[in-house]
Amino acid sequence: MNSLPTRLAALLAALLLAACAPSARDVREPAPAPAHPVLLVSIDGAHPGRLFKGDTPNLDALARRGVRAEGMRPAYPSLTFPNHYTLVTGLRPDRHGIVDNRMRDPALGEFTMADRGAVGDGRWWDDGEPLWVTAQAHGLRTATMFWPGSEAAVHGVRPDHWLPFQYGLPESERVATVLDWLDLPPSKRPHLLTLYFERVDTAGHVHGPASPQARAALATVDAAIGELVAGLEARGLRGRVNLVVVSDHGMAGIHPDRTVFVEDLLPPRSADVVHLGSQAGFNPRPGKQALLEAALLGRRGHVECWRREDLPARWAFGTHPRVPAIYCQADTGWRIESREHRARSKSPPHLGAHGFDPADPAMQALFLADGPDLADAATLPLFDNVHLHPLLLELLGLPAMPQTDGDPAVLRPALSAGSP
Ligand code: AMP
Ligand code: ZN
Ligand code: ZN
Repeated sequence: MNSLPTRLAALLAALLLAACAPSARDVREPAPAPAHPVLLVSIDGAHPGRLFKGDTPNLDALARRGVRAEGMRPAYPSLTFPNHYTLVTGLRPDRHGIVDNRMRDPALGEFTMADRGAVGDGRWWDDGEPLWVTAQAHGLRTATMFWPGSEAAVHGVRPDHWLPFQYGLPESERVATVLDWLDLPPSKRPHLLTLYFERVDTAGHVHGPASPQARAALATVDAAIGELVAGLEARGLRGRVNLVVVSDHGMAGIHPDRTVFVEDLLPPRSADVVHLGSQAGFNPRPGKQALLEAALLGRRGHVECWRREDLPARWAFGTHPRVPAIYCQADTGWRIESREHRARSKSPPHLGAHGFDPADPAMQALFLADGPDLADAATLPLFDNVHLHPLLLELLGLPAMPQTDGDPAVLRPALSAGSP
């Protein structure tokens, strides 16, 4: 039986947890409706170095008028789900719990992006509080035209308007949906909206980041941004919406010759493979930990492996229970794959990837913003993407979160002098 102090400590811990995890019934101090809606747009896989190259007239115009950063450093690992959730929670993946696009949880089992059940299960997302949940707790209205996490009831709350992710849905339809939401009468109009595009990421993977196809994909998304701006103008909302355009990470060229095969790393039957790619995560099978560690730890050519507790401090990663026990990172341009998977694959090998060290300039993400509460014609230095969330809170007139990795001071220069 537990001793009284132990039970008291457990009770206190439970109370504390309950205090940190707002529920569907959690209503906070009502916030006055912000004068200007915030529209957060993500162009998955877009690198800031692709602007001003003749492919992006609409993004270039926004960047020139408003504020942009030389780059935005993704959180580790530089993958889609972990970083999209960081952008809307202000927490690094080790804290918000979306530690990879593919995860294993002792209680919840397997998570993949393609698994609708898992993606829509709030328990995977509950370690963070996405911005739309915070906004709704303060009485604001929200709408998501796709965003990782938006299909789940997080702390019991979904956005007021949301749609299940549909890969390849034409960009124009997404823009039209956002404009429809802005057409709602003022008493129903959302204060926070998101919009997401995957086309640039897909083309970057298949053809490489500097390929004509990746440039064409960016031009297509740029045209959709043009439709969005024209739609705002037509409604008299240009200059009345704070438009924030970001990406989750950049993209680096890869080549099938630069592959480390997992079969050459692992002693047979020594580990469960949680995920492969730019990183590999392994959990040792019973009794195999020493064997696995002897085979993996340290640098092996273009891959370096650590016990999760020994990962480099600058990645701030490795404490969440979903992080596999042994964690390997490939050098930029390299991949960790299985020979079996390579042999089975019917499509040609990819020529682009991300997931590399966030410090690598190729992994940098995009940040530009234009609107009534944002600075004009300003350029900011590179910043960590955890600092986006406090800027979004300020634009919405919401208080800072008690638990955050973001610092509101970093992006304050992005606000206009007279902003909220
Ligand atoms: P990555 O493997 O990191 O390149 O992930 C990019 C992919 O994430 C895109 O091609 C989309 O198919 C996928 N994705 C983005 N948002 C969602 C979502 N809400 N639900 C499921 N998949 C998504
Ligand atoms: Zn991505
Ligand atoms: Zn990608």
